[in-house]
Amino acid sequence: MDKLLEANNLTKRFSQGNVISRAILTAVDNINFYIKPAEIFTLAGESGCGKTTTAKMILGFEEVTSGQLLRNGEPQTDKEKAWITEGVQAIFQDPFSTFNPMRRVDAYFHETVYNFKLAKTKKDAIDWIDQKLQLVGLTYQDVAGKYPSEFSGGQLQRISIARALLTDPKLIIADEPVSMVDASLRMSIVNLFKQLRDELGVSILYITHDLATAYYVSDRIAIMFRGKIVEMGSVEDVLMNPRHPYSKLLRDSIPQADPNLRWDSRVTLAELEHEEYSRKGCRFAGRCPEVMDICKTVVPPDVRIDDVFVHCHLYEELEEA
Ligand code: SF4
Repeated sequence: MDKLLEANNLTKRFSQGNVISRAILTAVDNINFYIKPAEIFTLAGESGCGKTTTAKMILGFEEVTSGQLLRNGEPQTDKEKAWITEGVQAIFQDPFSTFNPMRRVDAYFHETVYNFKLAKTKKDAIDWIDQKLQLVGLTYQDVAGKYPSEFSGGQLQRISIARALLTDPKLIIADEPVSMVDASLRMSIVNLFKQLRDELGVSILYITHDLATAYYVSDRIAIMFRGKIVEMGSVEDVLMNPRHPYSKLLRDSIPQADPNLRWDSRVTLAELEHEEYSRKGCRFAGRCPEVMDICKTVVPPDVRIDDVFVHCHLYEELEEA
């Protein structure tokens, strides 16, 4: 199977506190996943679960503590910045913070075209930029000479996507790209991801806490909890038939009447974060309705059930992954 990107035992530790009281927090703990060409793969979980730290390691913004990232089967090293800058592009949560309010939007496009030598003449540059903007439903004329404040959040997020497309990336990392966009425009952005996958063969790593859009757009999904992937498989399997108690809780926390709502208060207990990160056994043991004695002391196994991976003692009798 072709794997565009593969994470093997990927781990990130941060040290916290001061000289007198120092603690190590394992923000991403031995996770394994892959992304295929032309696939939308989602990392989902509440805030503080390690999904953004994972994205930062892929983008080279955070050093990997241990484990490995492979691209097309080859180790991704610090020297291979070209793949990171050209082959992978990122889209962030707040499109207004991506652009300086005092700078014209088209200047960003011309700068990228110039830096990556994507065109020889100004006319070629404008044609190249126009081609990318048309992919997101805009034209060069729509952005030329305008400042970020002249666009809505949804338009500016589309412009961020067009800018990301300038280098013909293989992978786009979209970190909460619709959380600051009006609910009415959210689907148009995620539909755009599907279009880029289907028409250009671009893969998307979609990072979100919004299970409704995750279900709609993803091919496969990994649910993260306190640095661990607790369940991973096709989006149908994981969200329609969740096995891990945390996935079940997340799924049940989306009120049926309002698919735009995210996790509710039952699962946004920030004060528990540090305690859960330091647990010896299963990090979810303090909140799990199916907790057993073993869960409090022994790290759960990764069990494969059909094509789904579940990190839980409940399935121990089944073959370990
Ligand atoms: Fe619950 Fe135990 Fe499974 Fe953790 S390992 S999710 S505590 S049953």
